[in-house]
Amino acid sequence: MDFMLSEQEKQFKRFCKEFAKDKLALLAEKYGETDEAPRDMVAQMAAAGFFELLLPEELGGKGIKALPICLAREAFAGVFCPADVTLAMQGLGSYPIHLAGNPDQKKKYLVPVAKGELLTTYALTEPGAGSDVNGMKSAAHVEGEGFRLNGEKIFISNGYSANILVTFARTPLTDNPRAMSAFILEKGMPGLSVAQRLEVIAPHDLVRLKYENIFVPRENLLGEMGQGFNIAMQTLELFRMTVGAAALGIGQAAFDSALHHVKKRVQFGKPLAEFQATQIKLADMVMELDAARALVYRAAILKDRGERAVGRHASMAKLYATEASFKVVDQAVQLHGGVGLLKGSVVERLYREIRALRIYEGTSEIQRLIIANLILKE
Ligand SMILES: Cc1cc2nc3c(=O)[nH]c(=O)nc-3n(C[C@H](O)[C@H](O)[C@H](O)COP(=O)(O)OP(=O)(O)OC[C@H]3O[C@@H](n4cnc5c(N)ncnc54)[C@H](O)[C@@H]3O)c2cc1C
Repeated sequence: MDFMLSEQEKQFKRFCKEFAKDKLALLAEKYGETDEAPRDMVAQMAAAGFFELLLPEELGGKGIKALPICLAREAFAGVFCPADVTLAMQGLGSYPIHLAGNPDQKKKYLVPVAKGELLTTYALTEPGAGSDVNGMKSAAHVEGEGFRLNGEKIFISNGYSANILVTFARTPLTDNPRAMSAFILEKGMPGLSVAQRLEVIAPHDLVRLKYENIFVPRENLLGEMGQGFNIAMQTLELFRMTVGAAALGIGQAAFDSALHHVKKRVQFGKPLAEFQATQIKLADMVMELDAARALVYRAAILKDRGERAVGRHASMAKLYATEASFKVVDQAVQLHGGVGLLKGSVVERLYREIRALRIYEGTSEIQRLIIANLILKE
């Protein structure tokens, strides 16, 4: 699919892959599977300039382009999951500030995020509001020179490591009682706490957050009151396709491992690769990955060209790439036989890591609903 990329983009893709091979693989060996965002990982990613992909050019960054973020996530995800998650969360937690922040907020937060000095996250989901964001109960009421915020958030990635977060809460307005606003919270604000660290199928820095009477100064409101829903959705529109890219990276790593295995493993007197049943599986796997890659790169290229109606492409990229890569990883485990299920085997880890991607940033079912809604409106 590299024919879709310019020479500069191909070079950047090689750079990402080399970084993953030379640096992230060593960190993966050092930390194993971890639910932390290791400081030396953050420092190395920052030194290599990856967080500058999330900073606009006017602030000294590389401009916020979807394709390079996709290429980096594709290269990182199969190698060291925390690196992929950290790049994604630095983006999800800073893009709302780029979209709606005032110059002071941008200066205060975006530059330190791009240097890796601040870790951030995006806190939207609640126990009663997952797919249905409008089920949100967290609420902020105007009080003096700010807001009083109460509520709770769940499944927040990098929520333990993050120093700041962008969050969303109801701020009823007279003309819109269900209005939602976006706020920047800083760890250490009285009333903001990590109520629980959550353990999931593959280690992931994941928490439940509690907001108990937090006083949020007015200067921490992002944009205008009532703009929260739009800010949340515009952010997801960019980052959704990058989830597809991460899935692709995981699927490709599983495929590579399976390809290596079937050439070596001998049964019935010959390598598995010589059986047609194996070859048919390999052909399907590589075709699925190529189709997924085409959809991911297409969505990113259209977004970077400034096409307005990119929502459908973003959802198709996320949906297809996560579902296809899940099937590829499953087949890779199958091709490994019993050793594919041994703890510590690459495909066993990838099998667990890929699962969440069909759920977060909008489940596969929700992506289908978005695609259908957009088609029906065209
Ligand atoms: C590892 C991980 C990391 C995450 N990180 C973050 C994060 O950093 N920040 C954040 O805010 N959130 C995060 N999330 C939350 C994630 O975005 C939600 O889990 C997701 O949106 C689904 O919501 P839910 O879990 O409440 O499922 P539900 O909404 O309860 O859905 C359950 C099932 O019902 C289906 N369903 C729901 N509504 C419909 C419908 N109308 N039609 C058909 N089917 C439907 C869903 O597709 C799903 O299969 C994370 C989740 C995970 C697992």
